[in-house]
Amino acid sequence: MQPTDLPAPVNRLSCPNCGNDNDFYEIAEDAVITTHYIQNQDGSFTPLEDDSQVHGDIKLICGQCQADLSIFYQRFSEMLF
Ligand SMILES: [Zn+2]
Repeated sequence: MQPTDLPAPVNRLSCPNCGNDNDFYEIAEDAVITTHYIQNQDGSFTPLEDDSQVHGDIKLICGQCQADLSIFYQRFSEMLF
């Protein structure tokens, strides 16, 4: 693959309502977050693993005007690195 194959800036996601293309929130509804801890000899705790299960919808929200951008969520998730 050549370096020129990188996505062009025109692929940036932006809010159709206010034009924001910087700030976005991902909101998970009805999520259960379980963390497994081991207690150390000195009484402190070390997290071993996180196990997050989302049972509800995941929404993508504009960070500026709070518009629901969930229709872009698949594209958003494909651009997470
Ligand atoms: Zn917006």
